[in-house]
Amino acid sequence: MSTQHVNADMENMFTYQRIDKDFVSKLPPKLINRVVDHIATTEADLDSNRLTQPKESISIDDLLVKPNRRFYFMFCPYCNEVGWLSMAQDSSKVSKSLSSSEPVACVFCGETGPFEKMNNCQKKSIMLYTLATGKPQVPETGETFVKRTLLEQSLVTTATGIEVFLRDVYSIVLNLRHVKPEKNLTGRFIEESRNDFINIGKAKEKYKKDLGVDLARVIRKDDLRKLDLLMAKRNVVVHNNGTVDRAFLRQIEAKGLSTLLQQTGKKLRPGARVPVSRIELEEYLKASENCLLAISRAFELDFREAILQRIKLNLKRGRHTRIGKITLR
Ligand SMILES: [Zn+2]
Repeated sequence: MSTQHVNADMENMFTYQRIDKDFVSKLPPKLINRVVDHIATTEADLDSNRLTQPKESISIDDLLVKPNRRFYFMFCPYCNEVGWLSMAQDSSKVSKSLSSSEPVACVFCGETGPFEKMNNCQKKSIMLYTLATGKPQVPETGETFVKRTLLEQSLVTTATGIEVFLRDVYSIVLNLRHVKPEKNLTGRFIEESRNDFINIGKAKEKYKKDLGVDLARVIRKDDLRKLDLLMAKRNVVVHNNGTVDRAFLRQIEAKGLSTLLQQTGKKLRPGARVPVSRIELEEYLKASENCLLAISRAFELDFREAILQRIKLNLKRGRHTRIGKITLR
């Protein structure tokens, strides 16, 4: 099983264009001067590489040959921001090579390009497929990548469970309470509320408005906050390769979840990898379990009584078809 990689040029268009000889050769002389000017200024700002000659006498080739430094021009097709980026190798950390750390995410909005997203999904998917088929060799990926991918999948599965659970309970209860027994609109309610339950805030609104149940009262505050964070992280894992973007930071800020997030590390910026830890997943799973119990208690009557009523009614009307025969062995 292999993936066809897209043309490297296409991939590099998003979001960082490395300024190398090849790129410079495509520029008119006037723009090359701008590039020289920018790089020379950046170099002059770095103490260890202070320039000794005047900018005018420097050629682009001189600037691009430094092995421990790289320059990029960033244009983000998502937020339209542009910028220069210089990457320098930290001489105190010999272990991290510059070649393994290409910039990918926009530093302004945090989006990674479509090719990067797709390649990453393919890589993760192949790894999961490899694990499933029992072939232990996972090319070009260490244990960290395997663990990270599995944790992300666990997070997404947990979040999807909550989403579908809240959506289905909502739709079924709405149907049991308000639709005549001979009709069924559960499917329609599910269809109409698609995507609403990815967001805990929206779910709370719908439960309160349509079912008269305040989730903030039935589910512990601490659990609700965790579910909120879980859903926010799920969105970032699904839509932006697990890379922090503006939407995520806005959501976290608006919901006052920053303190929860800070427990897992330093302040997050667009482009950083969203933290996903084993301990955190245990907490999400616990919160999901508590949510399941709380909801089942809150709607116990609906499920027990209303469903019993429907059964009785259908029996009375003789509206029951023979499904078939199950043989117990
Ligand atoms: Zn951007």
